[in-house]
Amino acid sequence: MNRPALRSLDDALPLLLAQAQTLSGSQIVSTFEADGRVLAQEVVAALQVPPQDNSSMDGYAVCAADCAQPGAVLRVTQRIPAGTHGAPLQAGEAARIFTGAPIPPGADAVVMQEDCEALADERVKVCKPVPAGQWVRRSGEDVTRGATVLRQGTRLTPAELGLAASIGLAQLTVSARPRVALFSTGDELVMPGDVAPEAMPAGAIYNSNRFFLRAMLQRLGCEVTDLGIVPDQREATVAALRQAAQQHDLILTSGGVSVGEEDHIKPAVEHLGELNLWQLAIKPGKPFAYGKVNRQTPGESCHFMGLPGNPVSSFVTFLLLVRPFVLALQGVTTTDITRTQMRADFDWPRADKRREFLRVKRNAQGGLDLFPNQSSGVLTSAVWGDGVVDNPAGQAIATGDTVRFISFAEWLT
Ligand code: AMP
Ligand code: MG
Repeated sequence: MNRPALRSLDDALPLLLAQAQTLSGSQIVSTFEADGRVLAQEVVAALQVPPQDNSSMDGYAVCAADCAQPGAVLRVTQRIPAGTHGAPLQAGEAARIFTGAPIPPGADAVVMQEDCEALADERVKVCKPVPAGQWVRRSGEDVTRGATVLRQGTRLTPAELGLAASIGLAQLTVSARPRVALFSTGDELVMPGDVAPEAMPAGAIYNSNRFFLRAMLQRLGCEVTDLGIVPDQREATVAALRQAAQQHDLILTSGGVSVGEEDHIKPAVEHLGELNLWQLAIKPGKPFAYGKVNRQTPGESCHFMGLPGNPVSSFVTFLLLVRPFVLALQGVTTTDITRTQMRADFDWPRADKRREFLRVKRNAQGGLDLFPNQSSGVLTSAVWGDGVVDNPAGQAIATGDTVRFISFAEWLT
């Protein structure tokens, strides 16, 4: 990649993802432990689900041809609870059957017990005509033997775990977790708990980015080494990056990546490796940086991503850029996020020349309300809001316009 320039997000993202080769070293884990992990294998069914045709009702298994007329009377010759299997059914016979029990040979339909009348002498009257196939769950209607039910690169959620278990898999092969070193820069930063609010020195602020960045990395399957706060000094920054590169796949920093004299991240990365991207045409989040920090072993390097210090900029650039990157490191094939067309119930007359991500909330009328303060330092906007409007550069918004909405709920999972 070439030297950085102010790029569009649409240009930057493919460049970034091209660098995110899937990490080597997959792992076999219990299916119980696989929630949130990424499949490193194709999952192929070795059996049909359901294994046999079975009843979806409590009632009577019958041959539909015997029950073409309402009021047919059949002999009940067997009883088939779930977990057992029946004998072949002869003409004029019915089997008492329960939900999940296999349909016996010779039967092709089930009548629910509410549509029958049990008679004396082990007989049953079927009150309604019965179409063939009624209340029968077909073998293989969920999964057919030999079918690929889950693709490599799928991020597992509870539904996938259940599906894998339904075809007998107690273990799954998943991708390695990215090892991420996280550090914050800024001499003004104080850790909550270290200094009480009433004792905060002038100019100090609490380190908030560290809390949400760590939580988001963990949600995305990363193993986080939290290296705390690094002082705004060139030597300290170089030392922290050099050390972190050895044992990690990615170094993620917040702050210190702008153009001020106190911003040491960019020169330090250039000194230790290369900076491939710097500054994007997005708001918030312009100072975002991507590069590589070399390891001691020649030819080896660690990915570097530098997020702006302003909390909302950090939050948004994480979701736009770090999220797809760490998913791609785990082999996830599709990292796109849904952009839903929604109605703006607000005006945004001052269009920016950068693509903007405005914090909004869905209202009960099916539209979007705007948080009044869109400053990149106001983290309240991300708590009040339940997502952002992805607004193209130079585009003003008037009440009633259709805009593209991204939900935090989807973005953060
Ligand atoms: P910087 O990107 O270092 O120039 O920081 C931009 C703004 O974000 C400054 O007002 C910083 O005080 C603030 N900031 C930087 N890092 C953090 C952090 N970890 N938590 C909260 N605010 C921060
Ligand atoms: Mg700073």
